[in-house]
Amino acid sequence: MLTIDIPGFGELAAENLVMDLNGTLGLEGVPDAGVVRRLRDLSQTLTLTVLTSDTHGRARDLPTDFGLCIERLTPGREAEQKAAFVRGLGAAATIAIGNGANDAIMLREARVGICVIGDEGACAPGLLNADVVVHHIHHGLDLLLKPKRLLATLRR
Ligand SMILES: [Mg+2]
Repeated sequence: MLTIDIPGFGELAAENLVMDLNGTLGLEGVPDAGVVRRLRDLSQTLTLTVLTSDTHGRARDLPTDFGLCIERLTPGREAEQKAAFVRGLGAAATIAIGNGANDAIMLREARVGICVIGDEGACAPGLLNADVVVHHIHHGLDLLLKPKRLLATLRR
């Protein structure tokens, strides 16, 4: 559990981190060593799920030995599927990270939505729906590993 009280934003008590793969965790679906290291660290406090359309067929190569769950979408209405997954976990206890149009609704509905621009860019609705926008996935994951950074960004 990741807990922090953010003035003006409220108490965050997150149990889940739901992440897009392509363009979010890695370029063409391949996370770098720094991402994997951060996910390993975050698995101590959050339940981690990668929710992906698996455009590049790379999801099977993700390391799962530290409890990373991988959920594949079925074709069609992907944004709604991602949002429904977040709702199913409990949106109030879920942080979402994504970059694409199919992440836009889950970024809005999650307690904290983090939009990553990265090397593949981010869609405009995702940017507008997010609570925080970062330009690199390392920085997005570091907000959760060092929650005072998140507090400093979100406090009003
Ligand atoms: Mg993406």
